[in-house]
Amino acid sequence: MNNMINIEELYKDVLLDHYSNPRHTHVIPNPTVTAEGHNPVCGDEIHLSLQVDAEDIIQKVSVQTHGCSISVASGSIMAEELQGKTIEQAQMVIDLFQKMMSGGPVVESESGDFEALVGVKQFPVRIKCALLAWMTLDQAMKQYQGEHVQVVSTEQEGAPF
Ligand code: ZN
Repeated sequence: MNNMINIEELYKDVLLDHYSNPRHTHVIPNPTVTAEGHNPVCGDEIHLSLQVDAEDIIQKVSVQTHGCSISVASGSIMAEELQGKTIEQAQMVIDLFQKMMSGGPVVESESGDFEALVGVKQFPVRIKCALLAWMTLDQAMKQYQGEHVQVVSTEQEGAPF
């Protein structure tokens, strides 16, 4: 057994796995909330749908990303994290992600893949690719809570990240 696991290589494998086989890409017929996101820097686009039940539990997640490997992997990892969580828990995950990406501690998730995204910090030019899905989710949360929504852009003013 080789115990010298290269963490960077491991993270790269996790991202590659999500890119090659993105989770929760199926269309939800009657979503409770949908949001669109766009990262003009890279050309990434995302369509997010959530089906939320009366107890605020996210029953179904749909994430369709057209973009680079990091944007697709980030959307897929996010979809896995959201499935089965309450809106309040999802909000906490966004919060943890935001803190992690801005230099806070690396957080271990239930899926074990969430923390792989922190590896993207080594490539500052790609951070927006990783953030896109989460910014779009943040917008979907606001919409769910009744706020006015518009198409998300990573380049907009007052971006949450
Ligand atoms: Zn990208």
